[in-house]
Amino acid sequence: MTTLNRRTVLAAGAAAMAGAAAGSEQAVAEGAGKPIFSVAQITIPIAGTSEVFPVRRIYCIGRNYAAHALERGSDPTREPPFFFQKPTDAIQNVPVGKVADHPYPSLTKNYHHEVELVAALKSGGTNIPPEKALDCVYGYTVGLDMTRRDLQNEMSGMKKPWEIGKSFDHAAVLGPIQPASKVGHPSKGAISLAVNGTVRQDSSLDKMIWSVAEQISKLSEAFELKAGDIIYSGTPENVGPVVKGDVLLCKIEGFPDMSIKIV
Ligand code: MN
Repeated sequence: MTTLNRRTVLAAGAAAMAGAAAGSEQAVAEGAGKPIFSVAQITIPIAGTSEVFPVRRIYCIGRNYAAHALERGSDPTREPPFFFQKPTDAIQNVPVGKVADHPYPSLTKNYHHEVELVAALKSGGTNIPPEKALDCVYGYTVGLDMTRRDLQNEMSGMKKPWEIGKSFDHAAVLGPIQPASKVGHPSKGAISLAVNGTVRQDSSLDKMIWSVAEQISKLSEAFELKAGDIIYSGTPENVGPVVKGDVLLCKIEGFPDMSIKIV
């Protein structure tokens, strides 16, 4: 290599390194620096495997069964269902065959159960047409959208966000995810919840106002959905209070039971 050539190469290398450094600074400025501590990735076990489903976001649908919309004071023929979110780390995983202890939360004196089918997405997008929406679903499970009803109602009455009623620790209770390759895409079948052996909620999935496919489609108009998103698909009527010591048994046809004890 001649001196001139070596200089050219060195200069080019320095320029490349300067460019890389600037790129790196840019990346750090955009949030890609070294974390100062680690934060756990929230996951849900996948039934029958040692693998887990990493969770990105939790979406919930409100008033997706007409009889529940009516008991919550809205007219399902005039007001469509709507969405809200829970924080991902509100998840409580409940193993099959166990009654998991579930702590009665702070601040509430009217703590409610809402049993729901939950869909877990392996892909997403925006403006997903309903006929393509189920291609995004990895699997399903049985969930409880636990609710501090008194706080929700109080905030709702003041026209304030009712996040405090829905988005708290352990508020997103779930069984392990059953892959759609095994359970299909359930659109009918019984969904129920019993407290201490007495059935309180008893309905069927075909009474949803928006199907899971329609929920995904509607959600994707408002948010870019991605792999790792899960969707609580709404609860049927007869939501109600639980107290410490109560045992809740959740059933959806085709799924293992999911059970918690309020402690
Ligand atoms: Mn709900």
